[in-house]
Amino acid sequence: MKKLKVTIWNEFVHEQEQNAVGEYIRSIYPEGIHRYLAQALAAEDVEIKPVSLDMPEQGLPDELLNSTDVLLWWGHCAHAKVDDALVDKIRKRVLSGMGLIVLHSGHLSKIFCRMMGTACRLRWREVGEKERVWVVSPSHPIAQGLPETFVIPHQEMYGEPFDIPDDGKIVFMSWFEGGNVFRSGVTFQRDRGKIFYFSPGHETYPVYHDVNVQKVLGNAIRWCAPAEIVPDRITPQPEPLEKITTENPLASLDTTELHK
Ligand code: ZN
Repeated sequence: MKKLKVTIWNEFVHEQEQNAVGEYIRSIYPEGIHRYLAQALAAEDVEIKPVSLDMPEQGLPDELLNSTDVLLWWGHCAHAKVDDALVDKIRKRVLSGMGLIVLHSGHLSKIFCRMMGTACRLRWREVGEKERVWVVSPSHPIAQGLPETFVIPHQEMYGEPFDIPDDGKIVFMSWFEGGNVFRSGVTFQRDRGKIFYFSPGHETYPVYHDVNVQKVLGNAIRWCAPAEIVPDRITPQPEPLEKITTENPLASLDTTELHK
């Protein structure tokens, strides 16, 4: 069986902070969120590689990016440190078919904002309140095997209005104890690439330890996997399939320059 190549990218900053919060996060994710998720999502049909911003080439050298089928992205305070040239390369790879799963505060990552084309702003509050996640598209592959609703005991609230394009297919909606609601799981398609945004995952709560959250991410990896990666996106001019009888009013002009 050909294994899906999954890369989990993490900015890996909060987990290394030398303060009480950093220490607390390390008690939940001793080796970082990326390595924890790589272990939690391990399965026979996937080959998962955890990488981070502090690695050479910001964790994503060409060779790795160009062999990745699905990329997971966790970022928060270091969005601006990600090289624009790398973001361009990731975008190209997504448009060619690579799946992209953007987690939690990755809503403001350069790559997510580029793929969405909107500001991706939302409301937030960090008081450790309860989040209730609802499956709103029960037939969607990402919702398979999940209960109709489940509770994450402590979460950072992410609330509407969430400035994402409205072509997103909503798979999960969340309600928060403080009264806010949020589109917490939304899919998009951009050219050949499938994208999934999933908001649960604040670093100071053990959200990725939750079996339902892990189920969502496992399903999402398989849903985002490309049918085929087609690197060259420049479509050649096709020969007409039928005879064109309409006279070209510009036949006497050479317009080929306009297409270069
Ligand atoms: Zn957060």
